[in-house]
Amino acid sequence: MPDQTPLTMGQQFGRRSWAEPWKIKMVEPLRMVDRAGREAALIEAGYNTFLLRSDRVYIDLLTDSGTSAMSDRQWAGMMLGDEAYAGSVNFYHLEAAVQRYYGYRYLLPTHQGRGAEHLISRVAITPGQIIPGNMYFTTTRAHQELAGGSFVDVIIDEAHDPTSLHPFKGNIDLDKLAALIEREGAARLAYVSLAATVNMAGGQPVSLANVKAVKQLCDRHGIRVYLDATRLAENAFFIQEREAGYADRSIAEIVLEFTRHTDGAWSSAKKDSLVNIGGWLAINDFEVFEELRNQIVLFEGLHTYGGLAGRDMEAMAIGIEESLQDDHIRSRIGQVRYLGELLVDWGIPIVQPIGGHAIFLDAKQFYPHLAQSLFPAQTLAAELYLDSGIRSMERGVVSAGRDPITGDHHYPKLELTRLTIPRRVYTQAHMDVVAEAVKAVWDSRAKARGLAMVYEPKYLRFFQARFSPA
Ligand SMILES: *Cc1c(COP(=O)(O)O)cnc(C)c1O
Repeated sequence: MPDQTPLTMGQQFGRRSWAEPWKIKMVEPLRMVDRAGREAALIEAGYNTFLLRSDRVYIDLLTDSGTSAMSDRQWAGMMLGDEAYAGSVNFYHLEAAVQRYYGYRYLLPTHQGRGAEHLISRVAITPGQIIPGNMYFTTTRAHQELAGGSFVDVIIDEAHDPTSLHPFKGNIDLDKLAALIEREGAARLAYVSLAATVNMAGGQPVSLANVKAVKQLCDRHGIRVYLDATRLAENAFFIQEREAGYADRSIAEIVLEFTRHTDGAWSSAKKDSLVNIGGWLAINDFEVFEELRNQIVLFEGLHTYGGLAGRDMEAMAIGIEESLQDDHIRSRIGQVRYLGELLVDWGIPIVQPIGGHAIFLDAKQFYPHLAQSLFPAQTLAAELYLDSGIRSMERGVVSAGRDPITGDHHYPKLELTRLTIPRRVYTQAHMDVVAEAVKAVWDSRAKARGLAMVYEPKYLRFFQARFSPA
């Protein structure tokens, strides 16, 4: 391998094609509404793809969250749900799966990822503290702020540059972190909030060398490192592919090696772990666990179900195991890359290197004639739906929200529209259709006029905000 540029599919697999390591046992019909129907649906939804009814959507790339197809083994597991209020056998299966594959000592199930974020933020943050992290995630930062903390971004600068080909754009900048510790004093830092992979940077990975170095620095100052493990399986694929010394290690081995350098983690199992609902929080320190276990009964449920049915925990335990198999991850990321490489070949601006779960269209380059206050990425998502019934979502100024102190919009450098690929759901032919639709929107980009926000909710506004043509 001459350098660290990601390989194309052809280079990686030679002349032989790859294929999904599964076949289809049950199908769900798709329908496409006509252009007039799409126009009406978009107006009804206030130009926000989150407010579209899903029966108006043809190919749904809104999110990969909770949208995966479960396997026959997971569905069989659903039938083995032990719906006892306390001590369900499915809880013990889940606990064993997290201990075995993620390596943490104590586990609490939660209804989904943000339930875990809420608990860890309540327990680990004292009002006035700061929480450094590798770029924010919406729900993560919202819970840190609700707990009275403030988030500080310490990701490397390359992460904010959609054209940088850095192989680990999710890495923490150690100089930024060290300077922050120096300036604020270790006691003001609640913990380091490390996410793998970094969704908002375009699904970009963190290297093992980076997590090791972060942990060493934090250990010197007595600061804990907590991991958002939601997309760690995908992160492990990039380590296997790009980081020296890991090419022959399995995804499961790399995941365990990674978590060794952290003190605890939360996860939305709706992503990597192949379930439609569920999450967890896991930790090594018994005292922190005890406090979390005290709090969970107030917000989620008893510590052996955490807001989930027994059958959900069983499906999650099985999903965790399936999600860390090498052939699964290779085909999952292979499909994302297939779509991305088609777009790159056609000169369409996307965030590179292509990340693990989604293609991020660079809306600033689609619409250089639109100011960021006209919501270019929101506009692009609306145009794509109108063209083809394909649903994407905004990751730009709308998602970034407002500064809680000044009240101004955050204007992130990245103004992106995300095409998120659910796991094990769509075929390569669907990816061809998506690529051609994006091309059509690209070809008519000069006509876009932008949007004005006419309704703005207070929290996580991208979910429910409404727009009209500017
Ligand atoms: C989705 C997600 C969350 C929140 O999880 P939910 O299950 O949606 O509540 C947290 N962190 C990351 C990185 C995510 O992708």
